[in-house]
Amino acid sequence: MDKTLVLAPQPRNMIENSMFEEEPDVVDLAKESPSYPIDTDNVVYEPRSSRLLVRGLGENDLDEDEEDYESSARLLGMSFMNRSSNQRSAASSYIRQHYSGSCSMPSTKTMVVGVVVLVLVASMLMVLYFLLGCNFTTAGCQKTNSTMDSIYPNSTNGELFPWADLRLPCSVHPVHYNITLHPDLTIMTFQGSVSILVQVLNETKNIVLHSSDMNIIKATFDGKEVHFLEYKPWQQIAFKFPEDLKKGQYVLNITYTANLSSSYDGFYNSSYVDTNGIKRVLAATQFEPLAARKAFPCFDEPAFKSTFTIKMTRESKYISLSNMPKVITTDLKNGLEEDEFEKSVNMSTYLVAFIVADFISVSKNVSKTKVSVYAVPDKKEQVQYALDTACKLLEFYNSFFKNEYPLSKLDLVAIPDFLAGAMENWGLITFRETTLLVGSNSSAIDKQLVTSVIAHELAHQWFGNLVTMQWWNDLWLNEGFATYMQYISIESVFPGLDIDTEFLNVRFKALAKDALNSSHPVSTVVSTPEQVEEMFDSVSYEKGASILLMLNATLTDGEFQKGVTQYLQKYKLSNTKSENLWNSLSQVSKQNLSVSEMMNTWTVHKGFPLVTVKRSGTQVTLTQEHFLLNAENSTDDSSLWHIPLTYVSDKCSVLSSCKQVFHLKEKTATLKLPDQVKWLKFNVRSDGFYIVHYDEEGWKDLIGALKEDMNVLSCKDRAALINNIFALSRSGKVSFRQVLNLMDYIRNENETAPVTEALFQLGQIYRLLDKRSELDLASRMTSYIEDHFGSLMENQSWDLETSVSKMTLRSALLEMACSLNIRNFCVVIDSWIPSDLMRTVFKVAAQTDEGWGKLLDMYKHSINDPEKHKTLEALASTQDVWKIIWILQKSLDGSEIQTQEFPLVINTICKSFAGYLYAWDFVKENWDKITQKFSVGSFAIQSIIMSATSQFSTKTHLVEAQNFFSSLGMKGSQMRIVQEAIETIKLNMRWMENNLNTLQSWL
Ligand SMILES: [Zn+2]
Repeated sequence: MDKTLVLAPQPRNMIENSMFEEEPDVVDLAKESPSYPIDTDNVVYEPRSSRLLVRGLGENDLDEDEEDYESSARLLGMSFMNRSSNQRSAASSYIRQHYSGSCSMPSTKTMVVGVVVLVLVASMLMVLYFLLGCNFTTAGCQKTNSTMDSIYPNSTNGELFPWADLRLPCSVHPVHYNITLHPDLTIMTFQGSVSILVQVLNETKNIVLHSSDMNIIKATFDGKEVHFLEYKPWQQIAFKFPEDLKKGQYVLNITYTANLSSSYDGFYNSSYVDTNGIKRVLAATQFEPLAARKAFPCFDEPAFKSTFTIKMTRESKYISLSNMPKVITTDLKNGLEEDEFEKSVNMSTYLVAFIVADFISVSKNVSKTKVSVYAVPDKKEQVQYALDTACKLLEFYNSFFKNEYPLSKLDLVAIPDFLAGAMENWGLITFRETTLLVGSNSSAIDKQLVTSVIAHELAHQWFGNLVTMQWWNDLWLNEGFATYMQYISIESVFPGLDIDTEFLNVRFKALAKDALNSSHPVSTVVSTPEQVEEMFDSVSYEKGASILLMLNATLTDGEFQKGVTQYLQKYKLSNTKSENLWNSLSQVSKQNLSVSEMMNTWTVHKGFPLVTVKRSGTQVTLTQEHFLLNAENSTDDSSLWHIPLTYVSDKCSVLSSCKQVFHLKEKTATLKLPDQVKWLKFNVRSDGFYIVHYDEEGWKDLIGALKEDMNVLSCKDRAALINNIFALSRSGKVSFRQVLNLMDYIRNENETAPVTEALFQLGQIYRLLDKRSELDLASRMTSYIEDHFGSLMENQSWDLETSVSKMTLRSALLEMACSLNIRNFCVVIDSWIPSDLMRTVFKVAAQTDEGWGKLLDMYKHSINDPEKHKTLEALASTQDVWKIIWILQKSLDGSEIQTQEFPLVINTICKSFAGYLYAWDFVKENWDKITQKFSVGSFAIQSIIMSATSQFSTKTHLVEAQNFFSSLGMKGSQMRIVQEAIETIKLNMRWMENNLNTLQSWL
């Protein structure tokens, strides 16, 4: 899935978060009571701990069999699992019930002691249990005793539900699904029937699977009608049998009806208005991560791979699409037709997809695959770029992975109303229109975006679809890899798109987020639906991609590709864990590098290291520590990373052959240089996921070298120095004066990466000052920016530009100039505007009533999506309060502005002084409605929360945010993003306290 497009297609400009940080320690899942304001300083985010406590064993230590569960639960005295649980939503888990019953919150200490005692007792009991000759799978140990009744929840009809875990039992596996669907696009409902061939692997009396929001009419098992039970909070249904089912295959049939969803997941309805003003409807799917169960009853976990045959009934005016090619269309009565699709390859439920719509398409063949791009008929002129790009990238991947794409067709479909950037359904990739369509006036930056999303989704056809993570804890295996491959493939196939600079920005973004204490390890235990949703964040995507880059840069030529190819070959059509990938890479490493030993340190610890360099002559002392923006609490953190440190010096610094490597595995190590050097720069081109601090001399030498001739370092190294020193300043390790010292050289700078990084960092500080009404300092910051970047701003042309790098540079400069009103750069531009500058110009135009009105008209009538997107951003950048309120309302109710744009609208409004408090109030007042449209924990919600709060820097706002989030209870108080938001506000407060005075004297 691609998540980036929820916001503006300019990631660096949209990160409003995670700046001046301090450290919280986390969230306590138990914390539900509104009477306890969230205090991030003394609780620990450990979603899994409570569950471990319940299970008493590690996640996969047991077969997930009902009897097993029963035994371990009984041992642990799980009487707290009372039946009231079925009153709760799917979010509820043992954890919450366990703690919420008590009338006062235990302190963290008490809880820790309690947990330790319970674990000890549990361990002792288990030892006894084993000594008595029982184990968790023998038949002799399955008998329940009377206390067991209390652990099973009640089904909807009052009967005991025979399963008490969010994860399904492993005793029954699906083998094949026959799915027949008939959506009615007039009344927005559908009828379905699913026939599942199941394999009973261990004798059991129950079959448990997922189903949500559907009305089951009838179920049969091997032809006989059977009674079913439903436990709604966990979206599970169960079939109970009087006798054990013997091992073997059976057929389970279920017929049902349901509404087409009006949110963005499941089998949902969508509509658009064509150029004749006529509303047209369609139905499409979005199942990842947990919504296949809303379209058909299924074993909805990624490891339950199966084959699928899908039949779709539709009116003859529509077409239908699914993962596989269509085999036959049959005429039914009443003018209906039924399409039947080929049997699929073995795959996970979240990758199943189908669409009923009136789309048109263009196609082309690549090797044995027919590639097609679909869109609404009005936009048929905009599909060609996507088709050509997809074909080139498919060829690249076919050859890079040495495993050809296995299906005979690949469809890319632009859906008019779609929340994610795109979704990699096997053979039927769905996109937002903005991420697939390219019109005649789209700029190269628009193309860079479309190309990136296509490259990402195509990479998933191997990483994710062909080989899938076992469980959502390893989501990064899908997302980190697809993200990394998108950069590799574009670099190779479209070198002109300057994707390298974009990737550098992405790494900076990932570092900023991961420097918060509320971050999490790349591979994190997850169990509840919200935790699964939360995995779709920058750690899984951007940090995942960054550590793969670091690994690839450490391996010698070709080893990475070879290891990856072997991994795909070995595990194709099955499921894996991180370890499987590391082992495949270790096997090809000639330098005897234990990839898993090195990489585990990057996936199991949260955060990343700060490496401190102290040089004395040729002796260099290197020390690593966990870098947290609030460094005060990090002293007892003993995490150690295996860091493949790289460095260059004045002797040789620009060519790639200059790079030296040193493996730092201990806390401290000494490096002996062969010769005297003038300066050293570590983490060459910022290929490694760590930041570097030097002693005073070290910084002085580097700053001196830059002033003398900045070209002694590559532009990526210069950008990295800027990034690192701002981060160090935020953590309090260097003074802001030191930051400004380094920035002195920037008047000579003209490369995209360092300039955009510097503007981004300064822009963040400006916005904080602005929001605190520190008007004097804000205007001094404006002068500082003008003084340091004014001549570069002046040198930018407003003409047609073809280089992506130059476009990125000029739009960053001109947008800053216009937003700060520097030197009247943005007076009147009434004539033709190059499309990469449209947003900047539109934003200026949107500040007058007349301009805003024109833009609104454009927004309503434009069928060019990149243009529409820029228009919307401009509309939301208005300073007029009534317009702000109007646009907030319209984008949430979806009437004049699509609801999919709501996160973007919030993000844009929050940038301006006029709007950010309105946006915050709006979010608070409409929280229920917002969470009906966007799932709790989803990246849309993450974005909304961070946009609305990340610029607060006062105690009043902190308390207000804490009170609001605490009051959410089940509707979000436990989200990780809430902790991130609180942590960010605290860091902003601290940074302001420490630096306001410095700014007075230094700006
Ligand atoms: Zn993805």
